Amino acid sequence: MSKEKKYSVLVVDDSEINREILTSILSADFKVYEAADGVKALEVMRDSKKKVDLCLLDIMMPRMDGYEVLSVMNKEHIIDYIPVIVISGEQEAEKVEKTYDLGALDYILKPFEPRIVRRRVLATVMLFEKQKELSYKLKVQMEENSRKVDEKTGLLSYASFFFACDALIESGKIEEDYFMVAIDIEHFRLFNDWFGREEGDIYLQELADCLKEYSAGTRSICGYLGGDNFALFAPYDLSLIDRIQERIIDMLENYGQSIGFGPMYGIFEVRDSIYDAQLMYDNAVTAMADIPGNYHNRIAIYDPNLLKKTGDELILLSDVQRGMDAKEFRFFLQPKVNMLNGKIVGAEALVRWAHRSKGLVSPGIFLPVLEDNGFITNLDRYIWEEVCRWLRSWIDRGRDPLPISVNVSQIDIFAGDVSEYFEHLIKKYELSPDMLDIEITESAYAKEYSLINKTVDKLRKAGFKVLLDDFGSAYSSLNMLRNIKVDVLKLDMKFLDTNEDRENNEKGISIIDSIVGMSNQLGLPMIVEGVERLDQVEMLTKLGCVYAQGFYYYKPMPVKKFEDLIRDDSKVEHEVEGKIERYKPLHVMEFLRTNLFTDSMINEVLGPFAFYEQKGERISIVRVNEQYYRVFNMLGEVTEDEIVSSVNRLQNDNSDFIELFNNASSAKNKSSSGCVQYNSPKGTAKKLYFRVFFLHEREGRKLFCSTIWDITDL
Ligand code: C2E
Ligand code: MG
Ligand code: MG
Repeated sequence: MSKEKKYSVLVVDDSEINREILTSILSADFKVYEAADGVKALEVMRDSKKKVDLCLLDIMMPRMDGYEVLSVMNKEHIIDYIPVIVISGEQEAEKVEKTYDLGALDYILKPFEPRIVRRRVLATVMLFEKQKELSYKLKVQMEENSRKVDEKTGLLSYASFFFACDALIESGKIEEDYFMVAIDIEHFRLFNDWFGREEGDIYLQELADCLKEYSAGTRSICGYLGGDNFALFAPYDLSLIDRIQERIIDMLENYGQSIGFGPMYGIFEVRDSIYDAQLMYDNAVTAMADIPGNYHNRIAIYDPNLLKKTGDELILLSDVQRGMDAKEFRFFLQPKVNMLNGKIVGAEALVRWAHRSKGLVSPGIFLPVLEDNGFITNLDRYIWEEVCRWLRSWIDRGRDPLPISVNVSQIDIFAGDVSEYFEHLIKKYELSPDMLDIEITESAYAKEYSLINKTVDKLRKAGFKVLLDDFGSAYSSLNMLRNIKVDVLKLDMKFLDTNEDRENNEKGISIIDSIVGMSNQLGLPMIVEGVERLDQVEMLTKLGCVYAQGFYYYKPMPVKKFEDLIRDDSKVEHEVEGKIERYKPLHVMEFLRTNLFTDSMINEVLGPFAFYEQKGERISIVRVNEQYYRVFNMLGEVTEDEIVSSVNRLQNDNSDFIELFNNASSAKNKSSSGCVQYNSPKGTAKKLYFRVFFLHEREGRKLFCSTIWDITDL
């Protein structure tokens, strides 16, 4: 032990004699403090002036015993820097073991031999000191590494580069988007062979100078990683790469314009990333894979959607585990809205990772990995429970709950009885099943149809509402809906090709239209998600959709913000279920699609009735009902062909017949009415009254429906 410094030992024992003996044998080597009980002992150890280097601790003491002292030392992390040796008369193995469990380093049985105690204390202090010294050295070494500069290029060398990048990231000084650029010279070995190593070194030097010069003035880090590999960590700026490229191409002119020796640039965009510098660089290198031989484009940007199965998954997984332990995962809520009045009818819980250094991370980054590895269930169960806990607390605060939906991955369904788990949760938090909705994605069905169906059945029997999520994404047929017994359809706009540019909208609209039709036919309510713009809202409500979830209304938000929002009762619509039908406008197309109205009802209520289509100026019949037939039967037209040609005759003879349709399709109220003369081939002339409704226009065809009355005799 060094002579200069005298270490200090704290002797904790309620027996004065014991304290005296120990003090007398230790005071030659140590400064000794004494404490007669646990409370006093902790006071001494917390006192930063005393700087206790080791604690000798008795177990049986008044006020606070040794176990308790150890517990507090753990809680306050005192045990991390003050080693403890227990001295006790307790022989029972279990009790002795307990002191080790609580972090004591050694155990000395009473009665003790003073010289042995002295030895053990000395040894423990030395050991502890050595460890401290080692970790200090390690830290210094790492700091040294971080300053190591490559002689040839003047850039940071391998370890230093990554160390410096990580340090910059962790310092939190990055305020803008960054990129990690991996630079590799194509055919560099050949360059050395052709022009010699010295020229090769000049090339490396030139590239290093470019990096240094062009990134100067920004918070950037340049590295030379050996061979022909460079790296740059800098504020996102592609023009910087262009400038480097231009200068190197200029330089290569001296070597006979050998563009084949040009550098390649792989780029990793740093946004919400959860990666460390090394992994960013690896990703940038991955992006570069397609460049060799492509002399037209020397820059490639890493696509996170092409997540590769490599070591970074493992790192991500262990980071997720750490994040779970540190309670970094939470859920955001995105309101679901009634488009007709803009009120909130519920919300979806969406997981977010508040990463300690990377900020808020979206599920797109970590869910695929967790799903691939089957580890998603832990996270999901945690989120479901957090949602239930929140619902409970919201109710406890005297509020009306809105139904919150949670997402269930198909892996969860393989992993165990999902329904049982939800039943357990609502019991635990005293909720009713209609407060918790369950979203299962359409693609899950595609894979494990019967298991999923069974689970959905069970959930519904238990009273939960099941939503079929992301409908439209898996391209399954509309008919699949007939076989799946869910409660609500969630159609995702993302998967449909609708944009502001009207021309290309037709296909997307007609898909939505047929899905709306099918869901109405099946009596399946629908929520459209991913609604971002007013024109989408207009189109959707026109088609008869009522519920939506999307950025146009609200983005996913922290729970607190959601609470603030729904505290305002005027923004909320409770009891969704009863209102679905009431709020829904009775849309003509819906009306026609539902099976609520039988043919005979339509005949009785509407009378003679037909669908027409207009293409250019020509009007033709699409469908008619029974009564329409009867009107023309009376006029002598009996066959289908005759009925069809009656329309031709109507428009050939009367410009006012065509006028009716033109008016209906141009007028704001979409309908027009009037009398038209009809000359039957049998020679009779009739007066017909038409009331025409314009339904829609699709790919140049206008669809109408119309009632017809024979008013000749009126
Ligand atoms: P999802 O269940 O279909 O959730 C809707 C996603 O669309 C959310 O993305 C939401 O933020 C996003 N979104 C909502 N409105 C709009 C909009 O107007 N425009 C656009 N472009 N996007 C919109 P997020 O939160 O990134 O979640 C992605 C997916 O991750 C979710 O899709 C869901 O399948 C899954 N997910 C989220 N949380 C959980 C969870 O706790 N467990 C499981 N298993 N999956 C989850
Ligand atoms: Mg969902
Ligand atoms: Mg969805």
